[in-house]
Amino acid sequence: MSVPSAIAVGTEVALLKNLHLSDGRRAQLAIREGRLGSGPAPAGGFVLDCAEYLALPAFIDTHMHLDKALIRSQLADHDGTLPSAIAASHERKRLYTEDDVRKRAAEVIRSHVRHGTTRIRSHVDVDTIGGLVPLAGVMQAAQDCRHLAEVRTIAFPQEGILSDPGTARLMRSALEMGCDLVGGMPHWERTPEDQLEHVKFCFDLAQEFDRDLDLHVDETDDGAVRTLEMVADEALARGWQGRVTAGHVCSLSAADVEYVRRVIDKCRQARMTIVSNPVTNLMIQGRADRGLVRRGITRIRELREAGVNLCFGQDCVQDGFYPFGRGDMLEVALISAHAAQLGTSQELDFALQAVGENAARTWRLDAYGIEEGARADLVLYAASSWQEALTLQLRPEIVLFEGRVVATNHLLSALA
Ligand SMILES: [Zn+2]
Repeated sequence: MSVPSAIAVGTEVALLKNLHLSDGRRAQLAIREGRLGSGPAPAGGFVLDCAEYLALPAFIDTHMHLDKALIRSQLADHDGTLPSAIAASHERKRLYTEDDVRKRAAEVIRSHVRHGTTRIRSHVDVDTIGGLVPLAGVMQAAQDCRHLAEVRTIAFPQEGILSDPGTARLMRSALEMGCDLVGGMPHWERTPEDQLEHVKFCFDLAQEFDRDLDLHVDETDDGAVRTLEMVADEALARGWQGRVTAGHVCSLSAADVEYVRRVIDKCRQARMTIVSNPVTNLMIQGRADRGLVRRGITRIRELREAGVNLCFGQDCVQDGFYPFGRGDMLEVALISAHAAQLGTSQELDFALQAVGENAARTWRLDAYGIEEGARADLVLYAASSWQEALTLQLRPEIVLFEGRVVATNHLLSALA
């Protein structure tokens, strides 16, 4: 497959012709004010011939931690469990400065963009160790990179709320600073009563500021930990349908079938999104197991069958929890496909949706994809199909954000 000559980053594209979409359709779309539309190109505008490419909507990473990325090499080695990863990060978190967080976060945003992701939703630690320094740093990085990608922030009480007195006040301050969503981590509290109080606090805050919620839920192998049901119950009781996301949800795989059926039905009724983060949880969960080691992946199959919205997230890039990662949603999709045993063409289509249109639903975007009205965020691959791009782990040749070329990648390979 030959690829047209290089296009300069910064080029404003006016017309995309000969688009080859993943479902086999061909299309031609104009770009006006960063959005896709019909009709001819604006006079004198740049025409990009996409005939040799596969065009996909740019990816969405809806579960990331930008504030703690790229600190792995500075942390002491630990046993790999979630409590150890949290503890190992404390010392480094005390040393955070806004500029330190800003630089690391911006580097990871740029890496996401190079790999075709133009929307990132990042949890940011809010606790009495780092205070609001992580949030200030990530918000500055988002501003630095606003010409490359859209970043939304989630106030995340990594150390708990009741178990870290002072965090409740900081969570409120985080929202006043402009944090987009309310986060949470109820399973980190000491008792089920405290867990429920944590959940209710998060919903109170979300209602007061009219924000969506995205909580870390049941990131443990212990099937008796059941904050997912508390979250679903609150979403239903408060009319927050379609506005609540639960991340990780590992313990659901270890829970009994009766609970699983009940809680999945509540998630469906509440129109919740479940974000599975297999790249991290394959590393963290099941550490105490010998022989058959649990995978830490939530019940993807049952959730899908029930019609619950599902996404895959990167979660971590080279931090205390996960030593790898580069903001590459194609890598996330491939690892997730292994973990969740997705292999049929329908299942592989789902893997694409889980880093794209399902996340767009979570973000409550009016339009997403390669269609009129959607923001002109696209990736162009030198591949003939999504499965080929996924299998070969290609980098996109061209990445567009708001109709402008923001990244190009060209692989040169020779074989005699
Ligand atoms: Zn996370």
